[in-house]
Amino acid sequence: MKKLTTLLLGLLLPIGLCAQEDWKALTRYEKAPIKKQLADRLMGYVKFDTQSKVSGKVPSTSGQLQLAKALAKELKKNGATNVKVDKFGLVTAEIPSNLAQPAPTVAFVTHLDSAPGFASQNIRPQLHNYKGSDIVINAAQGLTLNSYNAPQLLRAKGHDIITASGNTILGADGKAGAAILLTMAQYFYDHPQLPHGTVKLVFSPDSYTGTGIRHLDTTALGADFAYTLDAGEMGQLVDETFSAKTFKAVFEGNRSVDIGKAASLPFADNILMASDFHTLLPRTKRPETTAYKNGFIYVSDIITQGNHTEVTGILRAFSEQEMETLTQEVSRAFSTVKSLNPKGKNFSLTFGGQDKNLQQAIPPLSLRKAEEAMRAEDITPVRTASRTTTDGARLAEKGLAAPGLSTGFYNNPSTLEYADVDSMEAALRTVLRLTSLWSAQPVSAQ
Ligand SMILES: [Zn+2]
Repeated sequence: MKKLTTLLLGLLLPIGLCAQEDWKALTRYEKAPIKKQLADRLMGYVKFDTQSKVSGKVPSTSGQLQLAKALAKELKKNGATNVKVDKFGLVTAEIPSNLAQPAPTVAFVTHLDSAPGFASQNIRPQLHNYKGSDIVINAAQGLTLNSYNAPQLLRAKGHDIITASGNTILGADGKAGAAILLTMAQYFYDHPQLPHGTVKLVFSPDSYTGTGIRHLDTTALGADFAYTLDAGEMGQLVDETFSAKTFKAVFEGNRSVDIGKAASLPFADNILMASDFHTLLPRTKRPETTAYKNGFIYVSDIITQGNHTEVTGILRAFSEQEMETLTQEVSRAFSTVKSLNPKGKNFSLTFGGQDKNLQQAIPPLSLRKAEEAMRAEDITPVRTASRTTTDGARLAEKGLAAPGLSTGFYNNPSTLEYADVDSMEAALRTVLRLTSLWSAQPVSAQ
């Protein structure tokens, strides 16, 4: 009967109005079964060990490819078309438009991988209902989640909470997004009468190492606007990210001499040069001594092979001016070491891999629609600057800058990480509503 009413409304009302009326009714669904879908999906996906690692390969680990294939299968089962997994483990899929009129194509992007260096093998998710007292993650370890180490729980009484079991992270960053997108695909499949434009779904490998999304062919994807499902806290709307730059300093010395006679020989210590270089970088501009929108310099590796030492690292800054200052700091430290070591052979300093601050490229209309969608679902949007760089910022290089939407994970990455299933459900309503708003957007007004 409801379907018949919807169809009749579709015949009688102008399309934009009809769309909003349908959506109002249909996103007021029974929450329990939808929450179960979200929780079941997340708890299934986190069992794939998809930790990424810095390497020359994409995907950097085989677990990511396994999850990619599992998602592709599930997408097909839920009516998605053009489902592809490429050699990099990038999954792309389409939910075709069912509108009579053209509407913008909107892409939603999430990632497959979990944080490098954080235990992610044999993740055993646990579902709890938060009643206000501590959630026991691991009794033997005395590990509990409470309003001190998880202050967001103060607003989560009665919510379903998923944690790991004490020895691993949960891995919900990326995978909560995947659970939301697959539940959205199923929702469209189960409600074919719900009007929507073309929706593209992207699941990228190696987001943490910044190497996966670069392989996405955005021309083939054909999206007009995009969002990443990559933020945690409910209501977050990431509209700004650090700009990022890499650097590599090479010090070539000569340690292949009789060190007992080093004073009288052309001895040059490349390890000492690298160490001095690291020491000369300002301590007030390190990750652990900065916060909020203050940029930093981070040395990620010092590798020596014989007479050759390479120091690699990253610079992060919100403004071009600060990035320039940090670049000068690195150059100054390098020049000092060079001038103090006349016996050194070769010195080089190179910068590369620039990611721009997302804010510089983001279409204001994408943000307005996201805020409108959240408010329509009684969520207060909170514009957020991310102290990292995101796939959304990397997509900006390809002309598809994507703001980040919240997916309901917290304390990532740590053994205290958790996902709030009620926040995930709110995120699902946000993306459904967002799709509805875009479906009513005249293409000429883009
Ligand atoms: Zn992420």
